[in-house]
Amino acid sequence: MDKVISRWRQRISQLCKIRGRLEGQLMRPRPMRIGSVVKQYMFCGKASCACHRDPQKKHGPYYYLSYKEKGQSRYKYLGKATSPEVERARNYQVFQRGMAQLGKIHREIIDLLWTIGETKMKEGNEE
Ligand SMILES: [Zn+2]
Repeated sequence: MDKVISRWRQRISQLCKIRGRLEGQLMRPRPMRIGSVVKQYMFCGKASCACHRDPQKKHGPYYYLSYKEKGQSRYKYLGKATSPEVERARNYQVFQRGMAQLGKIHREIIDLLWTIGETKMKEGNEE
């Protein structure tokens, strides 16, 4: 049992390190704007253009921000890949993912602590 418990403790230490790094990033978020970035390639108005014959030659990518306003889905044109608004929307997604990951790590630590605690409770009951 002790071997198993020490493996759980190792896992907890490992998770704490990952969590520490993640919290370090999350406490200094970059500028953000709420929404998710949608990438699109498009046909143009010129009938003679190659984009009408070959889908690989469609124009773009063009970026849109997809977000909700009063429960309704909305889109806003953001521009090319390098636009600061695209960056801000990406930063938001990175932040969201980081927060979700933090929650997962936290729950795993709590589960492991409970598991360790429960083995001690069982031992306590057997005596
Ligand atoms: Zn075209």
